[in-house]
Amino acid sequence: MKRVFLAILVIVQLSGYAQKEQKVEIKPKPFITNHQGGFGGETIKYKGTAKETYLKNAQGNSVASFWSVAYMQKESKPTNVPTKSAPISRTSLVVLGTVQDAGSPHIACKKDCCTDLFENPLVSRKVVSLGLIDSEEEKTYLFEATPDITEQLKTLKTIAPFMAPEIPNGIFLTHAHIGHYTGLMYLGKEAKDAKDATVFAMPKMKSFLESNGPWSQLVTNDNIALEEIHDNEEIVLSPNLKVVPFKVPHRDEYSETVGFKIIGPNKKVLCIPDIDKWQKWETNIIDAVAQVDFALLDGSFYSGNEINHRDISEIPHPAIVESMKIFETLPDLEKKKIHFIHFNHTNPILDTNSKQSHEVLYKGFNIARINDVIEL
Ligand SMILES: [Zn+2]
Ligand SMILES: [Zn+2]
Ligand SMILES: [Zn+2]
Repeated sequence: MKRVFLAILVIVQLSGYAQKEQKVEIKPKPFITNHQGGFGGETIKYKGTAKETYLKNAQGNSVASFWSVAYMQKESKPTNVPTKSAPISRTSLVVLGTVQDAGSPHIACKKDCCTDLFENPLVSRKVVSLGLIDSEEEKTYLFEATPDITEQLKTLKTIAPFMAPEIPNGIFLTHAHIGHYTGLMYLGKEAKDAKDATVFAMPKMKSFLESNGPWSQLVTNDNIALEEIHDNEEIVLSPNLKVVPFKVPHRDEYSETVGFKIIGPNKKVLCIPDIDKWQKWETNIIDAVAQVDFALLDGSFYSGNEINHRDISEIPHPAIVESMKIFETLPDLEKKKIHFIHFNHTNPILDTNSKQSHEVLYKGFNIARINDVIEL
């Protein structure tokens, strides 16, 4: 009996609402369509929303309406496939990360550069690293063991045109700063428990790893096998592939710092992710660029504006604005070789659409982006 009474009440209520609703408004219905198009060589999926919006007066009555159409890029799914369309079939370098050691978002950052990224991280923001695919010998190599090594090694394996090993045939380290070697921890017992993974390191870097825990445990457990390399001494990976380390000036608390020249069957690449000022290096950077086909160069900061408008001459990196000044008079073909890399979280270059990114490209230089492929 009680139940029946309740049911009637509900019906009365509902019909009451229905009557009121009719008087007030008919809700506008949005029309959503899905699209896909090519923009600047990139395939972008986007959503079109067409709808009418009613404007109401103080009494809540609709007095005007307008029609709008909005296009929004759909959230792109994480992808490990290089953005360049050509599949990697030849011996190549692939950019596996472009960010400075501490990544993006950056710990405790409250600035605009990172606020959104804590909730919506971007898969493209990985710490600086290069993968080397030797398609003739069917081997892979990694430059830098970053905190993002887990994903970076999977990408390297996935894009190789042969059955590549999970752990590459060699890992090259530039120096003992957190973004460049701490990924080695994933080769230890708590993670992969690798067996004799070859790690190429300069003498001081090698003895730092051998004599300090937890790294020394990787050595005693044979997770890694250290191969000592030397300043300006060629490492022959195959008859068609060589790597030459060379010392550069940098904050060398625990190790030397090196850059690498990677010499492939047809092309040479210079890679200097971390350096103090170009002027502090005994080699003239312009001459060094002249000897190669591509140069991946330290672009940690765009200008002094990122660090409380500090004088750029005080920053222990060549700011991109300083580097562009040094290379200003070079012919276009030389400028084109230069790809900036190793971006601090504050660097507006990380945003492909920033005016600074456009400025760098406009001036004839390039910016390294994740998944870029350099055929060697
Ligand atoms: Zn670094
Ligand atoms: Zn930030
Ligand atoms: Zn460093």
